[in-house]
Amino acid sequence: MSPWLKSSWQSVLESLQSASPPHAWCLTHTSAVIADSLTDHLAHSLLCDAPRKGEPCGECVSCRIPDPHPDILALGPEGAAGMIKIDAVREAIEVAYTTASMAGRRVMIVRPADCLNQAASNALLKVVEEPPSGTVFIFQTAVPGKLLPTLLSRLRMVKVPVPTRQILEKTAQSLGINGEDLLLTDALLAEPMALQTAPERVGLARDVLDALVRIRFGEDSQVVLKPFGKVDMLTASTVMERVCDQLIRAQFQQSSQDPITAALSAPYPTVRLLYQYKERVAEVRTQAQAGIAVNSGLALGSLFAAWAFIWTRVPR
Ligand SMILES: [Zn+2]
Repeated sequence: MSPWLKSSWQSVLESLQSASPPHAWCLTHTSAVIADSLTDHLAHSLLCDAPRKGEPCGECVSCRIPDPHPDILALGPEGAAGMIKIDAVREAIEVAYTTASMAGRRVMIVRPADCLNQAASNALLKVVEEPPSGTVFIFQTAVPGKLLPTLLSRLRMVKVPVPTRQILEKTAQSLGINGEDLLLTDALLAEPMALQTAPERVGLARDVLDALVRIRFGEDSQVVLKPFGKVDMLTASTVMERVCDQLIRAQFQQSSQDPITAALSAPYPTVRLLYQYKERVAEVRTQAQAGIAVNSGLALGSLFAAWAFIWTRVPR
């Protein structure tokens, strides 16, 4: 976990280990990239069979399941309007009430929760009031004021800090690395410490972002593809998914302070196109995750070409 999240996580842990741990949380933030990792960590800790002092053990069946975890019900914006729709909410609620989870626990993640419309909020409010047994809710939002006050009042609020430059520099210094590198790695892979643990993945992540930026500004995708040899498609597709997520979010939230949106600069492709693109990326990612051999040249080439295409649709 990023060093700057430790204090918020500590407060989450205290609540988790209390006599009556909350069953509904709301993580508020100004940077979605940073909040994502706390939300995901909390979800995994809630699903772990044998958490150690609240931390996911990393060894049990639940901890070893690759994402998407079957007991995490994720609700996010859909369609051109980018709202979390009532149908999706009803479907998730139905699953939570009627189907068995792996170990009797389930986490419903709603993010960004400010994309809930009135009907979807009301449906969730009811289920938060009378939750199916073993179900915990995590709402994540940059604008808690947009949530129904009645819903908000039932959530345990956790404020996720953005690292100040001072903290960032201190951390980077103690690790012997550059602060900007630390933020960029966090944004691309959600693992700032990968700089030390997997420098080759960080190198690839930066190359992929660089390629996406060059294509976005009009370079030919085949030319950009050339220097890439055989690459680790799991890392490459992770970066592409996170880039899509950030561009989608940037269109719904007033403030977005992350190096990805800054590098690609607005205007961005529509949310619908970004979702379509993300689905293609997810197919590759699922294959790579399952250990299916992927011809990385072909996969990367087709994803770069599709990326070039969606930017041709952006009005200039
Ligand atoms: Zn575990």
